[in-house]
Amino acid sequence: MEVAKDSKMLAAELHERARPRGLTTSAVAQAFRPELLDAPASRALLVELLHPGEPACPSCKTPVPERRRAGFLAWGRVTCPGCGRTYGPTSGTVMAGCNLDPRQVLLIALGLAMGLDNGALAGLAHVSSETARIWRARLAQEHAQA
Ligand SMILES: [Zn+2]
Repeated sequence: MEVAKDSKMLAAELHERARPRGLTTSAVAQAFRPELLDAPASRALLVELLHPGEPACPSCKTPVPERRRAGFLAWGRVTCPGCGRTYGPTSGTVMAGCNLDPRQVLLIALGLAMGLDNGALAGLAHVSSETARIWRARLAQEHAQA
């Protein structure tokens, strides 16, 4: 009984010690996570960045129908009236097949712009160092094509 109480107190003490204190840069860096960004605003920004012109079908370039535009911008999928294919905002883009949250992708891009190394990038976006490395290469390629 006494041992259980002690380990509980120790756990609480360790938790207390790990908690960042005060508004310091390291406390903010330690506590920051992708969930602090607004999800709809992040998706909207990514759609805007992925489709700088008029959003269109990645296969036949038929523009997204006006009545489907709002859904597409909200990360929805549309069926192309031109070729019948179904696609979403990431289809045919650097984000195709990406399982990351849009907020994580924005944080990776931001971290790269800030010159962070893969370890720091991984910490900022809450991804593995390997994912950070892969995205560094992906976005460098995208930058070279732009
Ligand atoms: Zn099409």
